[in-house]
Amino acid sequence: MARINSRDTDLRERAQKVIPNGMYGHQSVARLPEGYPQFFSRGEGAYLWDVDGNRYLDFMCGYGPNLFGYANAQVDAAYFDRARRGDALTGPGEEMVQLAEAMVGLVSHADWAMFCKNGTDATTMALMTARSHTRKSTIVLAKGAYHGAAPWCTPVLNGVTPADRAGQIFCEYNDVESLEAAVREAGDDLAAIFASPIKHDVLVDQQSPTLAYAKRARELCDERGALLIVDDVRAGLRLARDSSWSLVGVEPDLSTWGKAIANGHPLSALLGSDKCRQAAGEIFVTGSYWFASAAMAASLATLTLVRETDYLERTIALGERLRKGLDEAAARHGFGLRQTGPAQLPLIMFEDDPDAAIGYRWNAALMARGVYFHPWHNMFMSAAMTLGDIDFALEAADEAFKAAKA
Ligand code: PMP
Repeated sequence: MARINSRDTDLRERAQKVIPNGMYGHQSVARLPEGYPQFFSRGEGAYLWDVDGNRYLDFMCGYGPNLFGYANAQVDAAYFDRARRGDALTGPGEEMVQLAEAMVGLVSHADWAMFCKNGTDATTMALMTARSHTRKSTIVLAKGAYHGAAPWCTPVLNGVTPADRAGQIFCEYNDVESLEAAVREAGDDLAAIFASPIKHDVLVDQQSPTLAYAKRARELCDERGALLIVDDVRAGLRLARDSSWSLVGVEPDLSTWGKAIANGHPLSALLGSDKCRQAAGEIFVTGSYWFASAAMAASLATLTLVRETDYLERTIALGERLRKGLDEAAARHGFGLRQTGPAQLPLIMFEDDPDAAIGYRWNAALMARGVYFHPWHNMFMSAAMTLGDIDFALEAADEAFKAAKA
């Protein structure tokens, strides 16, 4: 199926001249199969249109922000209404207090909130708050977990010094013994355990946290006076209407949020309990756009949808339908799929595909049929998707299995 891609090709050529490598970061399509468009002209509901006018049912959701659909009418009305009255002013608007109240009302461990723009801002503030609270510096993290792209956490080490990474000890996710060993190694210098709500690393199967791992992380922090941080930037609001570890009954001291909380408008947050309120008040953090009101108005509208709709149950049901349909189609075509993670955050890889060649062919064939899947990053279900959309994706997947075999 030949798609037109002349504008995308032209933009890529121009980008090569004025943007290093033509693109950077997680939205560069350089590591994706051929045929993935780089540039888009619009998004509406569950769909995306590239600059050449080709339409895609989008299972990446902007890498997370699209929870209630692109250009959601309710959220965007709140955003534009506020933006028309001035957005980034010399001080915050009343929305900041309303939003802090709304987040504290929603997330059971939280007694206070601070707002920023990117997930990395929030995770960096969490790190600083933990070090300020404990007056210690070592943090324990899970190997392979993503917490952002600042020097202390970016996955690629060019431009990063050993000093930027000092005071970090790594354990294996869900491995209690390795968590205990890492904490032992920290000695009397443990500031925090940083936990992903689920293991949602790229290129490997996803895992939900075991109760033993989450509980032990809580105990170890309590024994040492360290803080437990859950990084809910990616999974927040997609697993629960609360911190994601509420599902295992473990309350963090700090949680970090972003992506879905304003349904695509730039906003992130650090939430914390009373225990670390003072320390959070003692760090100096700020940004020119952090106090702007329009994204906060969008977030208030998003949280209304979170509280008042069955979006969570629907995204789970849609994800389960997709997962079952894909398993059936794969079996018909003689493939084994490894579908891991919660149904609403699916990661789909192939058995017996060590270099991901089958996965790349299958994803490319889906893309050619107007379905945007990802071969090695977890995907996201949008509440704007319908059962009809899932059927459309399954029909495309069926054809794509044939192409992947060829
Ligand atoms: N933490 C997690 C778990 C994430 O998935 C991300 C973004 N993918 C971040 C932090 C960083 O967020 P941002 O890209 O908005 O800085």
